[in-house]
Amino acid sequence: MEIIFLGTGGGRINLINQTRATGGFVISGSKNIHVDPGPGALVHMRNLGLVPRKTDILVVTHSHIDHISDAGVLIEGMSNYGLRKGGTLIGADDALEGKTDGQRISEFHLSKVETIVNAKPGESLEFEGGKFTFTKAVHDTFPAFGFVLEMDGKRIGYTGDTEYFEGMDKLFDGCNLLILNVMKPYNDQYHGHLTAEDASRLIGRVQPKLAIITHMGMKMQSYPPEKKAKEIEEETGVKTIAATDGMKVASDQF
Ligand SMILES: [Zn+2]
Repeated sequence: MEIIFLGTGGGRINLINQTRATGGFVISGSKNIHVDPGPGALVHMRNLGLVPRKTDILVVTHSHIDHISDAGVLIEGMSNYGLRKGGTLIGADDALEGKTDGQRISEFHLSKVETIVNAKPGESLEFEGGKFTFTKAVHDTFPAFGFVLEMDGKRIGYTGDTEYFEGMDKLFDGCNLLILNVMKPYNDQYHGHLTAEDASRLIGRVQPKLAIITHMGMKMQSYPPEKKAKEIEEETGVKTIAATDGMKVASDQF
């Protein structure tokens, strides 16, 4: 199994300027799982030699455009160019139903998916070869989630976009790898995202074998992230990497 980071940028300024790419990440193991297919996901897959038609499970953790924009084209991949129903789509309520003002996946594309799962924090989903447990996320006014994925003998935690909340570490208990969306280096008056201070606290409590920070906003990008990752590693004793666009991490590293 390996994880491939298509894009590692976060936030609205990065989104438009693409100082770092966007497009989420792919977990490639006994199933191919694409998480948060934001702008560029399809193109970056092509450039990295990944095949959209081999996507088995598409996960959209909330309906902000940097997590959902390429969901439609990837569904056309999962469904053999849209010619037959295919794949599994796991989405936040808003991405599927569009009940608030978030983006949503079109009726057309939803009709091409074999299995649609409306992910609710606390619930889980078993699939052939693995299991998702959806975790709570506190992000804007949108329904959002993170997850713990058990597959190929590993336990991978992903925070999704969320601010830190009490008890968060318990959700990621026993994870070998923890992937964190870390927008900013410091806490400020704006909430809804993890900062590096939050990330350090979470990593320190969960103690995974490896932590990877991604989805970094402009301040985090200029810190720079490698320096921040080193600081977190010193604070927590956990090997911590700042992801880079196109980075691949094999499961023997966690
Ligand atoms: Zn968001």
